[in-house]
Amino acid sequence: MNMMLADFHVHSTFSDGKLTIPAVIDLFGSRGFGAIAITDHVGESQTLIGKAAGHLGLSLTPATFPIYFEILKTEIERAWDQYRMVVIPGLELSKNSISNHRSAHILALGISKFIVADGDVACLAKTIREHGAVSIAAHPVSSGKLEKQTYHLWNRREELAQAFDAWEVASGDRLFPEVLKSKLPKIASSDLHIARQITSWKTVLECERHPEAILEAIKKQEVQFRFYRDNQNDNTRPHFNSDLRSVLDFRGSYPDTWDFNRSVA
Ligand SMILES: [Zn+2]
Ligand SMILES: [Zn+2]
Repeated sequence: MNMMLADFHVHSTFSDGKLTIPAVIDLFGSRGFGAIAITDHVGESQTLIGKAAGHLGLSLTPATFPIYFEILKTEIERAWDQYRMVVIPGLELSKNSISNHRSAHILALGISKFIVADGDVACLAKTIREHGAVSIAAHPVSSGKLEKQTYHLWNRREELAQAFDAWEVASGDRLFPEVLKSKLPKIASSDLHIARQITSWKTVLECERHPEAILEAIKKQEVQFRFYRDNQNDNTRPHFNSDLRSVLDFRGSYPDTWDFNRSVA
């Protein structure tokens, strides 16, 4: 078993991503990734924001899901044949409200059916597991950027601690000190929408290149995290919040690439 680099939060043109599913596969496959999950948005069926996103093609709908899933099936096979890369079919259940505190995004990894983002988040997490999929709390704390924030899961983290198999400890170039400090199970992904966002925090696994083994490794938390830079000319630095100094007791300048596992926290 070899160490493999994985990214479990990636969008395509089936929601608000700029790359088609085949382009996503080639982007990660050509760089030697061992596993990725494609996780396009699904909105709520009854809210104005949810309905608008569906109409604008920014989220999957019951009408577009069958095509999404068919293309994924074909591409899962091609990714394996061409790159020996495992592709996990996923969704990002997206509850978007005007209030950041009522907004929540939940990843479902390993789905085979459409799941709509309706109802309470605790029920959604339960539904995801009933479908045999893994539930992830996506970007649960401040991203530090001027964009829509999703705090609902973090506000209820004590009650929901067991509801999710992992919480994103990093998204893109941001590492989240609050999640790192917590005892919650963790995962790191890019939330990629455009190709250059491949430079980001990633999850590193050491398990069989098989979907079940990979999802099991997440559940058992046999994971490490690493900042992956796409190429030598890319000067992107991982974004370290100053809080991290106290969390990690790091002295000196930050290295470009940095490995740690959850025992550090
Ligand atoms: Zn999201
Ligand atoms: Zn996303």
